[in-house]
Parts: sequence; C-alpha cells; structure tokens
Amino acid sequence: MHSVDTIAAVATAPGRGGVGVVRVSGPQTRSIAKTITGKTLRPRYAELCNFRGGDGVVLDQGIALFFENPKSFTGEDVLELQGHGGPIVLSMVLARVLELGGRQANPGEFTERSFLNGKLDLTQAEAVLDLVNSASRQAAKGAMRSLSGAFSRRVTEIDHELLELRVFCEGAIDFPEDDVDFFSESNFADRLESVRAKVATLTTEARQGEILSDGLTLVLIGEPNVGKSSVLNRLSGQDRAIVTAEPGTTRDTLSAEFELDGLPVRVVDTAGLRESTDPVEVEGVDRARRAMSSADAIIWVIDDQKDLAGQSPIVKNDPSAATMVVRNKVDLTKRSVGRLDKRTVRVSALTGQGFSELREALKGLVGYQAGEGTFTARRRHLDALAAASKALDTAAEGLAHGEGELVAEDLRVAHNHLGAIVGQVSADDLLGEIFASFCIGK
Ligand code: GDP
Repeated sequence: MHSVDTIAAVATAPGRGGVGVVRVSGPQTRSIAKTITGKTLRPRYAELCNFRGGDGVVLDQGIALFFENPKSFTGEDVLELQGHGGPIVLSMVLARVLELGGRQANPGEFTERSFLNGKLDLTQAEAVLDLVNSASRQAAKGAMRSLSGAFSRRVTEIDHELLELRVFCEGAIDFPEDDVDFFSESNFADRLESVRAKVATLTTEARQGEILSDGLTLVLIGEPNVGKSSVLNRLSGQDRAIVTAEPGTTRDTLSAEFELDGLPVRVVDTAGLRESTDPVEVEGVDRARRAMSSADAIIWVIDDQKDLAGQSPIVKNDPSAATMVVRNKVDLTKRSVGRLDKRTVRVSALTGQGFSELREALKGLVGYQAGEGTFTARRRHLDALAAASKALDTAAEGLAHGEGELVAEDLRVAHNHLGAIVGQVSADDLLGEIFASFCIGK
C-alpha cells in the first residue's frame, strides 16, 4: 500500500544545530530530489549537493540521501536533505520541497506510513515515540526493546496459539455430534490454560513496561513547614523547590524530575494544605487537590515531632492513589530511622537519613521491579490484555459447561483484542490518536 501524496518536514529538533534534516517521503520524492539537487541520486549513497531554489540560487549545501522503496523507513521513496541546522535555511529548503509538490507532514505521519506499509507493527511504531520521549536510560532501553519487536513477538506467539485453538474449536462446532469428544479427548482445556497463563505473565511484564515509559507522578502533601520542599530536594538531588522557614510559602505547585533506579519520577510539591482565607493560598490548595487526583502515589510528609492526629491533611486522600507517610525531622526526635511499616518511613531531609529506605519503599508502593528485559508498554496495551484475559476466562467457563459455540465466540473476542495490540485490527480513530501525539517529521 503506497500513498498518493508526498510528505515533507524538518526532521530535526527546532532551533540551531550543526546539521538539520529535511525529510521527504512519497511518490514524487525522486523527481523532487532531481530538481533540488540537479542530480540523479544513487540509492543509499551520501552525495554532496547544492540544494537549489526555484530561481536556481543555492539555498544550502549538504548531503542528499535517497532511499528507494521499499527499503526505507516508510517503505516509500525517501529523501533526506542534510543541510546546515539553522531554522531559516531549513525552512527555505522545506518551502522548495513543498513548491515542487510535497505537502507538510502531519505529526507522526512518517511513522504512520511505516506502519501502514508493514515496516513496523503498532507497538513498534509506538515505541518510536517512547524512545524519542524517554526520560531515563532504562526507559530508552525499554523502548528500544519494544522497537526491535520484543513485545510484539510475545503477543504474536500467544496470538498463534489462540488461532490454533480457534481453528480447532470452529472445527468441533461444525461436527456437533463429535464435539464433546473433541474437547475432552484433545488437550484443549490444557492448551487454553496455557494461553491464559501466558496472557497473565505478559500482563505483568507490560505493567512494568507501562510504569517505565510513563514514569511515576508523585505528589507531596502535608502541613506547612513539615519539610515537604526539603524532602523533594533530597529525593531529586537538586535545589528545585524554595525552602524557607515561613509557614505557607510554597504557594504554587513545584515539580522536580529525577530517576529512581531508571524509573523516571516527577514529584509535585504542593502548597501547604491548611484552611486559609488568603486567596493565593486557597488557589495553591486547589492546585494541590488537582495534582493529587492525577498522581500515581502520594507522599504525605509529617513532622516526626508531632503526633499524627494533629497533622491530618485537610484533603481526603484519593483512594485510587497509594499513600506513603514520611515522618520527617528524625534528626530532632532521635527516633529509629527508616522503614516503620510498608507505608511509613522515618527520615531526615536535613541529614539525608532514611532516604534509601524511602526510595525502596516508593518503588514497592507502585510495584516497580523492572529488570534488564523490560520493554515499554502503554495503557492501551494493558487494556487490550485485560479484555483478552476476560474473554479467555469466559471461554474457560463455557468449556466447563460444554458450550462449544460460546467458547468459539469468546476465543474470537480474545483474539481480536490481542491483535489490536500489534495493530492487526485497528480502527482509524485509534491510529489517529496514536500518531497525533508524535512530533512533526517523525
Ligand atoms: P514545607 O513548608 O513543608 O515545604 O517545609 P520546608 O521544606 O520549607 O522546611 C521547613 C523548615 O523545616 C525549614 O527551616 C527546613 O530547614 C526545616 N527542615 C526541613 N526538613 C528538616 C529536617 O529533616 N530536620 C530539621 N531539623 N529541619 C528540617
């Protein structure tokens, strides 16, 4: 499947750089290349050329690289004009390409064409974006694993087994007089169990992958002056938040980003949560509530010198988010440092005591234990796996009751959900949503 139009975009990041690339893909690429460079480019050869405007004036000089279809990223004819990395010169070269019949590419359109032309499946296409956006080395490695097919292969393996079961099941239904024997004499039930177990294992791994690619959002809450900003600075290892001794000075939400064993973490420091009539502070408390509703976990900082009852935050904890209680200022109380229970850690932001325990506890709280083989995954994948798993549960029930036709239907549903992960069956609006989040030129 090849597109009728030719797309073009500046593929390098905006701003000035050593090299800037204009990328072109589609049926007119060859003729555009010929006109701009004045040469018939040999595929896959780096050729030094002048890039000329309509009046013959040289706009830039650089390397032209031509990839002949289907051996290119998109599977179409692709041209890369690698010139000097200035925004004006790049826009002039791009304008010339558009003049010659190209059209400005939409975000993610090169990758979308790559998917549509069968060069990448959908999880791999998504991994392209995850790789570009990765916020830690571990996340980048995970995205690269997905891009090279680690996730897709696992899905495809289950997909094949499921297909065999479906074929078998449909056959059994076509010969109803035999179906009871069919199911009982074959190891159908065992094979179905094996598929269910594989889906469960893959779900566990994909969940790690999702945490890794999305990272964690933590929100710090607590009374003013308990040391929230200091805890944030300790965790992130930078002086991001302004720490002062005046209660209620952290009026806005501040955030810091850092890594927890390769896991990208974003911590939002909220305004001190207390009843107030000061409009600025009230606004800060509102923002804190909003931040909490989208957080993966909440860190509730309390002063170890005070008792818990006197320090309950005025917000109700979002029941969906896990909460970690951090008893700060242990240097003043001289109590035992570190983990008190699963959700409570005693620390000192001043001395740094208890922070390694806090980091471990935070990883435990969200269930992060990614290893070397972790690949990146997304919410969409987890939803599809959950839906497939549910259909397989129903299939197992149907099998127990000897209802062959229902089993066949449930297997079909499970199969479709698995297929949607790699893009075998994808609605156009899903594709639109996925590729729209890419940057232009990707
Ligand atoms: P926030 O209002 O909750 O963000 O609190 P801050 O981080 O601004 O800290 C309030 C005050 O407590 C500052 O004077 C900090 O230096 C002090 N503080 C914070 N953490 C500790 C700690 O662990 N030990 C001691 N002794 N003082 C601390």
